[in-house]
Amino acid sequence: MLQGIGALAGTMVLGAARRAFAAGSGGAIRAVASIKPIHSLLAGVMAGIGEPALLVQGHASPHSYSLKPSDAALLEEADLVFWVGEPVETFLERPLQALSGRAEVIELLETDGVSLLASRGGGLWEPHRHEGGAEAEADEAVEAEAHGHGLDGHIWLDPANAKAIVARMAGALALQDPAHASRYSDNAAALRARIDALDREMATWLAPVRDKPFIVFHDAYQYLEAHFGLNAMGSITVNPEQPPSAERLAQIQAKIAGTGAVCVFAEPQFSEALVRTATEGSTARSGTLDPEATDIPPGPDLYFVLMRNLARSLATCLMK
Ligand SMILES: [Zn+2]
Repeated sequence: MLQGIGALAGTMVLGAARRAFAAGSGGAIRAVASIKPIHSLLAGVMAGIGEPALLVQGHASPHSYSLKPSDAALLEEADLVFWVGEPVETFLERPLQALSGRAEVIELLETDGVSLLASRGGGLWEPHRHEGGAEAEADEAVEAEAHGHGLDGHIWLDPANAKAIVARMAGALALQDPAHASRYSDNAAALRARIDALDREMATWLAPVRDKPFIVFHDAYQYLEAHFGLNAMGSITVNPEQPPSAERLAQIQAKIAGTGAVCVFAEPQFSEALVRTATEGSTARSGTLDPEATDIPPGPDLYFVLMRNLARSLATCLMK
């Protein structure tokens, strides 16, 4: 009886993502997602059938996360594991290789229809570097990978990529759970339509600020910039796993002065003091962006809240 109430209460906590698969979950498929934006899309594809589990919870950043014993247990019990790939969830690379469970592991960086961008490195960029178009970018991405510079892993911030990811998820789920194939496919179609509407809404918000220069905290936004034609000039950190040096902050101050950056954007999990130092002596305003949704409760709506928040924060700070 007590157990029954506990299980019921557990299912009624809105916004809480699973930390363990229920004992005796019968034939239900056990799917795990690495980070919140990916978990959100997966939860949408699985709506009405099951709830995916999530590894990186709460305010944690995937760039500085380390695997917990409970995460390792989830991975061992899983049928399907979705992650972006080594550039984002560096902490998962070895555990996934060492997995002894039966899980099928799906690296979303390698998905048909997902366009990839090379990691920029350096943290100080030249404006409008996307003029070569999608084909030139794809060549650059392949070249960067070949030379070990790596790919930019923040693929979910391009709505077109999110649609390709949703299609891949539905296909993988249907193969493991054919009884629900048509439901996965219907859910995916509905999600793709919702993402199209989101894309149009964001484009309306962002069109008036396309040329306004800005600085971000870590280099997470390249896919958003490319898709909506935005004008980011650099990032405060080169590597989000390490705080910037004094020399680096001086370079950023010079970049802000030199480019007339309108806004400098912090992120919730990083120090606001760094942004204050970076904007010292300039007229640049400060805003906040949350590209990994650390401040948003997990669930199928998270992706849409995440993207709308980004568009609104950019538009509000850049338009003033
Ligand atoms: Zn990131």
